[in-house]
This record gives sequence, C-alpha cells and structure tokens, in this order.
Amino acid sequence: MSAVMITRKLRKWEKLPGKNTFCCDGRVMMARQKGIFYLTLFLIIGTCSLFFAFECPYLAVHLSPAIPVFAVLLFLFVIAMLLRTSFSDPGVLPRALPEEANFIEMEIEAANGSVPSGQRPPPRIRNVQINNQIVKLKYCYTCKIFRPPRASHCSICDNCVDRFDHHCPWVGNCVGKRNYRYFYLFTLTLSLLTIYIFAFNIVHVVMRSVDQGFLSTLKETPGTVLEVLVCFFTLWSMVGLTGFHTYLISLNQTTNEDIKGSWSGKNRGQNPYSHKNIVKNCCEVLCGPTYPSVLDRRGLMQEDSPTAANSEGPCSFDNLVAQTVKTTAPLIPNEHTPDDVKPSIAAEKSSAPKDDPPLAAKLPPLASPETDAETSIVKNQ
Ligand SMILES: [Zn+2]
Ligand SMILES: [Zn+2]
Repeated sequence: MSAVMITRKLRKWEKLPGKNTFCCDGRVMMARQKGIFYLTLFLIIGTCSLFFAFECPYLAVHLSPAIPVFAVLLFLFVIAMLLRTSFSDPGVLPRALPEEANFIEMEIEAANGSVPSGQRPPPRIRNVQINNQIVKLKYCYTCKIFRPPRASHCSICDNCVDRFDHHCPWVGNCVGKRNYRYFYLFTLTLSLLTIYIFAFNIVHVVMRSVDQGFLSTLKETPGTVLEVLVCFFTLWSMVGLTGFHTYLISLNQTTNEDIKGSWSGKNRGQNPYSHKNIVKNCCEVLCGPTYPSVLDRRGLMQEDSPTAANSEGPCSFDNLVAQTVKTTAPLIPNEHTPDDVKPSIAAEKSSAPKDDPPLAAKLPPLASPETDAETSIVKNQ
C-alpha cells in the first residue's frame, strides 16, 4: 500500500523576508516587537473600563445617559483605528527577485563603467523629475531596488516602505502609505477620548464632592485618581502628536521628511508633493485613493511542500524569516504584483511629469533613526 503524501501549499507570507510577524494565515501583519503595542491596548482599555465602571453610572443618572453612549462609540472607534493601523500592511515594497536584482546590477555597472580597484564606486542614485524638481532615488542594498520617491527602509521591520512616515512602536507597525490616515484618525480620536474622560472625571468628582465631600468621593471611586493621572499625561503627548501630524498633513509632508529637513534649508527645494493649498493637501492625504497591498501575502507559492516539514505551522515563520533575512536573494515571488507598483518600475515611471498628481496623493512615510531617506532634492536647472 503506497504511503499517502500529504502536501500543503505554502502561502507567500510564509516566505516573505523582513522582520514582520503574521497571524491569521497572513491576514494580520505587524512588526516583530509588539510589547509596547500591548501596553497601548492595556492603557486604553484599562482607563476606559475604569471610566465605565466608576463614573458612567453616576453621570448617566445625574447628567445624561448620552455621556456613556458617546464614550462607548468613541472608544470603539479608537480601538478600530488602532487595530487597522497595527494589523495592516503599511505599504511594504517587495524586494527584487534574483533576476531583477541581477539586471539592475548590470544596468548600474554599465552606467558607472569600470571603477579602478581601490576607488570607491559612485553612489547608486537615480534622478527623477517631480513637479519640475529633481528628486534623488537611492538604491536599497537590502531590497535590491531603487526606492520610489518618499519610500524608506525601516531598520526595525527590515523592509522598504512606500511613503514611509515612521516606525511607531506604540501601534507595533510602520506607518506608511497604506495606514497613515488610520494612524492619524487614531491619534485624533484618542486625543478626543482622553479629553472627554479627563473632563467628565473632573465633573464627576466636583458633583459628588458637593454631595458627600471630596475625600469620601475618592474613597468610593478609587479608579478616578488613576484615570485622571493616566489621562493627564496621555493628553499632552496625544494632543501634541495630533497637532504635529495635522501640521504635516496640511503641508503634505511626512515625519521622515520633516526630521531630515528634506524640504527646508538653504539648498533644498520646495516640497514637490504639496499642492500649496492646505485644503487640497488635507483632502489628498485623508480622502485620497486607498492602495492595495502589493505583497499578495495570501497568494499560494508555486511549489508544494510536505506538511511534515512545516509542522510548526505559522509559528515557524520567525525561524523562516531568521533564515531568509540572512540571504541576499529576494524571496518574494511577486509575479502578481501589478506592474505599476513594482518598485523598480515605479521609480522609472515616476520620472514622467504626468505622474506627479498621483504621487503627491500618496500618504506620508517616516524613517526610523537609522534609515536613509533619499528624498534629498536639488533645484532643477
Ligand atoms: Zn529596503
Ligand atoms: Zn517598521
């Protein structure tokens, strides 16, 4: 009797390089370090639970039942935006396939000519024109691609991310082209929720103190002090962060570009992505088109692999990644990647001035400290 060979098709997320973790069979994608993300969840859920337990019953009876209802709606929206930001692909660019990488290498060598031994080869840069300005695209030695405009390599996730804004440990993910607006809505609504809880905590303490005295009020609602403290410290940071991102959105700028001063200083040009109009910039960043993920995480790999060899299941992905990141050869079979979003091709396409409005419509990206954003620009002659 012949042995039955059980095979399981591997999905592409299981072979993706980079330092992301996946769950739900590739539907959820996050950075590997998630400790601070859990702290964020704990603080939000914990503080809101105390508010619902100690203040809401009193306020609903003595002020209005709308207070807890609105708090619940705001809380649910905050959590939804947080999870949407944390669990999604921020706009990771697939690495070049070995053949693509070889082709780019050949192109670079042909362009640079032979470099005498001992001399440093010229930097790998391509220039593209965006809104009459020359923008330099740097070559990523890890991903083997020329990064599209505004993309940067996140050293924590080890991926190039399109319109990279920053890597945010509080949401446990990069913030880039595909999740920036959700990140912004998260900071905005969390600021409102914090102000809301803080304000109604004060109202609650004042109303109860009139009836039964300040100290006995605190004794009866021990959560109040904790809530006020958490809200007080969260409030300043969240309102400040929301204000900062509102400012960036109004300029159509990313945190990465702001930190690196890409569009400021004597020898820098103007931001070629800005419409020079606050309303247009805000509309583009917050209401512009959404972009599909180009990773095709749940697509099936071509080859079959025995189940036994993969008995660890999705949990073995960390090991897989640990092996794959050591290799220089890209492992993403991105044959389903739409041509217009393939990084190397996208970089070339962006040289066409007619592509400028869509490029400007991209969401802001930021870089972790070690990343090299290459959006330095020189004035077009
Ligand atoms: Zn890269
Ligand atoms: Zn990252």
